[in-house]
Amino acid sequence: MSRSGTRVVIVGAGFGGIGCAIELQQHGFRDITLLERGEQVGGTWFHNTYPGAACDVPSHLYSYSFATRTDWSHLCSPQAQILDYLQGVAAEHGVTGRTETGVEVASCTWSDTNVQWTVTATDGRTWEADAVVIATGQLHRLAYPRIPGLEQFEGDAFHSAEWNHDVPLAGRRVAVVGTGASAVQFVPEIAKEVGRLHVFQRSGNWFMPRRNRPYPALVRALIRHTPGLQAFRRRFIYHYGESLTAMIRNPRTLGRLGRLRATAFMRWQLRDAEVRRKAWPDYTFGCKRVLFSSKWLPALQRPNVELVTDAITAITPRGVVTADGLEREVDVIIYGTGFRTTDFMLPMTVTGRDGVALTDAWADGPHAHLGVTVPGFPSMFLMYGPNTNTSGGSIIVYLEAQAAYIRQALQHVRGRADAAAIEVRPEVEAASDRELQARFAGTAWTQCDSWYRNESGRIVTNWPGYMGEYTQRTAVLDPAEYTFVPAPERAPATAEPAAS
Ligand code: NAP
Repeated sequence: MSRSGTRVVIVGAGFGGIGCAIELQQHGFRDITLLERGEQVGGTWFHNTYPGAACDVPSHLYSYSFATRTDWSHLCSPQAQILDYLQGVAAEHGVTGRTETGVEVASCTWSDTNVQWTVTATDGRTWEADAVVIATGQLHRLAYPRIPGLEQFEGDAFHSAEWNHDVPLAGRRVAVVGTGASAVQFVPEIAKEVGRLHVFQRSGNWFMPRRNRPYPALVRALIRHTPGLQAFRRRFIYHYGESLTAMIRNPRTLGRLGRLRATAFMRWQLRDAEVRRKAWPDYTFGCKRVLFSSKWLPALQRPNVELVTDAITAITPRGVVTADGLEREVDVIIYGTGFRTTDFMLPMTVTGRDGVALTDAWADGPHAHLGVTVPGFPSMFLMYGPNTNTSGGSIIVYLEAQAAYIRQALQHVRGRADAAAIEVRPEVEAASDRELQARFAGTAWTQCDSWYRNESGRIVTNWPGYMGEYTQRTAVLDPAEYTFVPAPERAPATAEPAAS
């Protein structure tokens, strides 16, 4: 441990990094630096500014438990409001001042000799730390489809997560590739203004209704002034999320109820028989993310919108060619093709004990104890790491649990005079990983290809159970599951505030 106390570097200042910094600060850790690639804190909510961007998880659950609000304008708040909330919380807790923005981390390297991490930015700057928290999330590396000729396109093209607001869309011919959670939000918005819109779909989705109109003044007043109402709604949505997970976990029983509800809603919305045939999903309910939107299916049936299900075979300088040989000429292509989720923190290089690269440790796919700690990487902690994504519920519940778990790990180190770092025992991590993977058997997640799985088919992003279960398992860090790395010979350390 350093003379001035535990030095913690947190990579990423989104919901995860900010939440972790607050948790550590509140327990007496003062030497915390956040490094953020973006120009402002906010993570995904800073970067994703596409029209209609919002969180499909209701805001009273998609917010920190220690910073709830009663002034949300909608059930599912728009991106600007979420960013404003997150930046407000970061400022209120002094996290903004601890953040260096515009810093892209190139590598994190552990030194066995010095028992510390060196974090190096792409511009060559370095930070030394007793612990690193990698809070870069699962959804930050853009995925572009591998389509021949993609670079030849002479019109405007951009990814939904890097929306180019300088490109006019009104009256123009636009192609959208991909029909996931992002496209489902921006297509209904841009469909109103573009001249012609071709939506290229590879797979249909299961939909549940969500109108998400702004709250009427009376509802806003009730939420604001009725004691306990917002807390009740938070609990209600929490259990609703758990019930969605139950459907995914039990596709033959509860999953059928979800499928029935989605079918009734989609049949009612899909009046056009041809669009209905094309848009209908061909996989088990819940295998991919169930989407909540009452706007998407009507948008597909607008006269200026075409849903194309023939595979894209090429992009030409003028447009998009499909397997039937047809070329649709367009002025703009928007890629709503998601993220390289299974790469986690790559292309950052992470090197642990004995010079082992994380990519080698993860040659068979990413895995971590409770999604947080990795054998061979002392005092390296992941937030929103492997197998901690949720398909029903709020990721913030998981992030808060991880922040508290990381804080406990660092408290254990701080409480031992002879320890400088903490490392999960390999056999503990291997056993928890085996148990976790076994729990996917029979669930909907295993029944199609999705961004939850890596090339070998292993599910590497999702937690196989409920939010409650994850919170319970991470509630108390068992030091017996860890080893403690002794401190190197150094000058005596000054005292730090006691663990609370
Ligand atoms: P996504 O869900 O991964 O969707 C990508 C889309 O692109 C899919 O429809 C995919 O088809 C399609 N695609 C990929 N490669 C293609 C190709 N070569 N040709 C044609 N289509 C191709 O990405 P996303 O919509 O950006 O969402 C990613 C995640 O971000 C979500 O699952 C969610 O966790 C999060 N998100 C959350 C919210 C929210 O409101 N909470 C909003 C937006 C995003 P296939 O389905 O066939 O692969």
